[in-house]
Amino acid sequence: MYRLLLILGLLIILYFLVKKALREFNRPSLPSGSAGHDQMIQDPVCRTYIPRANAVSASIGGQNYYFCSTDCAQTFHKQLSG
Ligand SMILES: [Zn+2]
Repeated sequence: MYRLLLILGLLIILYFLVKKALREFNRPSLPSGSAGHDQMIQDPVCRTYIPRANAVSASIGGQNYYFCSTDCAQTFHKQLSG
């Protein structure tokens, strides 16, 4: 009788371990927010592709633009005003 309870208890523990392992296994395969962070974006001034994390962002006219450097951001500003 005690052995049966012990086996049952072990099965329950095993069930939760498998459930947890499956959850951990499924997590990296999901396309989460990390994909957006490493996104490559194009500089509208010099047409260079730069990772979004390293880009210089500028909000112009309520829209966000990304540049490879502050020089390109300033050039873009001049192009818009001039
Ligand atoms: Zn640039």
